[in-house]
Amino acid sequence: MAMGAFWLCSPKPSCFRVHGHRAVHFRGARVFDGDHVLAGGEVLVVDGSIAAVGELACIDAGGAELEVVDARGQTLLPGLIDAHTHGSASEESLTDAVAFGVTTEIDMGGSSPARLAEIRAQDNPQRADAIGAGHWVTAPGGHGTEFGDKGPTLARAEDADGFVAARVAEGSSFIKLIISSELPTLNEEKARAVVDAAHARDRRVVSHVNTRADAEVAVAAGVDGLAHLFIDRLNGQLRNGTPVGWDAAAVQRLVEEMGRRHVFVIPTLEVLQSACGLAPGKAILADPRLEPRLSDRVKRVLRAKGWGVNSDRDCYAHVMESVSMMRGVVPILAGTDAGNAGVTHGASLHRELELLVEAGLSPIEALRAATSAPAAFFPALTDRGRIAVGARADLLLVEGDPTADILATRAIVRVYKHGTRAY
Ligand SMILES: [Zn+2]
Repeated sequence: MAMGAFWLCSPKPSCFRVHGHRAVHFRGARVFDGDHVLAGGEVLVVDGSIAAVGELACIDAGGAELEVVDARGQTLLPGLIDAHTHGSASEESLTDAVAFGVTTEIDMGGSSPARLAEIRAQDNPQRADAIGAGHWVTAPGGHGTEFGDKGPTLARAEDADGFVAARVAEGSSFIKLIISSELPTLNEEKARAVVDAAHARDRRVVSHVNTRADAEVAVAAGVDGLAHLFIDRLNGQLRNGTPVGWDAAAVQRLVEEMGRRHVFVIPTLEVLQSACGLAPGKAILADPRLEPRLSDRVKRVLRAKGWGVNSDRDCYAHVMESVSMMRGVVPILAGTDAGNAGVTHGASLHRELELLVEAGLSPIEALRAATSAPAAFFPALTDRGRIAVGARADLLLVEGDPTADILATRAIVRVYKHGTRAY
């Protein structure tokens, strides 16, 4: 009898009690948690964070406002992270991004860290979040200066510590290094001094590279990641007496070294298409799921021709071959290099995912590259990139199953940023 009374008075053990003001309950969705597809199809968001994941027998909303989303036939994913952008401090870039499910951008240089911090603090659901490197580290006359940038450059290794300290004081979330041998560039000693100064301040270092030789210098210097895959523009020619070009055995050695050091790569396949003389924006303009949602301004960006003058018809094939060598060995992060001709904020990340799959990644591996992988490498983003209890509720709901068909990321139903509906 006493036992019976106990059962009557006790709440159902699986009934979830909401503590908060606003809750969103996604029911029946396939859930990709940033790493795997989960068995249970329910996710509960409370006041901007994920409060429960898995089977929920019942929800006791208490005094909270509860929205129920019937997501049968749909897939819920973490909001996408574009790991390589420029111009993320512009409101229109961040609005373009969030409309296509990109809830966070990693600005690889040029945007004011103070402005990016202001944008994050505003937490506007109509704009993606962004972290950035701020001003990059390049040699006097090096890549970056040809665009008329008048910012400081690094001439001596002994100045690296002060240079990095100044970037950290400005609010840089990580350090962007430029090793690009088509112009005067930082050598390994100077690059290592930058890496040591950054790591001493708990900042990751990501390097721009142009050729495989640049990538070898960056990796030897101890960088955490490469902002691009390399291309060898001068295929078959000599540079300073040394042959420059595709060398599969040398790429394989570099890939193994990157794997040993756990150095990630952001391939930026679209912008390398452009560098190889192809037009990366065409495929997006031809997609009926993406094209109708693009503004005239974005369409102009996508129509712009790349700068590629590469006469080597294998240029892009070698880029794709490098990605397939890296698969499973080197952590791969998805990034567009939006801000360049032919590539835009938001829509272009969906094309990048498709190209990663063309290069040999499974759809799940490509989705990890745009969710949990970037979140794992950038300490400022450890609150996101996953659907797990306690994570920030940046979410993308799409029709169909992108874990089987990567093109399904484009069938966007809803986007939530920090628990608030953005699209
Ligand atoms: Zn870039």
